[in-house]
Amino acid sequence: MTAATVPCPSCDGQGSSEVLACPGGRLLTLECKRCGTTGRVAPAEAERVADGKRRREERVSRGLSLRQEAERLGLTAEALSDIEHARPYLTNRDEPRARRAG
Ligand SMILES: [Zn+2]
Repeated sequence: MTAATVPCPSCDGQGSSEVLACPGGRLLTLECKRCGTTGRVAPAEAERVADGKRRREERVSRGLSLRQEAERLGLTAEALSDIEHARPYLTNRDEPRARRAG
């Protein structure tokens, strides 16, 4: 057996997620990309997702936009968005894309 897994934080271990489709406001069931519909991911991946969520909640609680927070950290808004949403999926990168600007 390979490494233990934990319930997927994206779909809550369901293998798929219900999303509200716009326009129309209907519920759609989408297959979860993060866990490939197995509903389970590696613990490290779950931790990455939780960390991104924490960062996002903290930023929102301070009333900062994605762009403002990215600027503060010396990141691009895109890079920060990747971090908050734990993209790309299933990589082993420990560090977020580092600031490269002078
Ligand atoms: Zn999932």
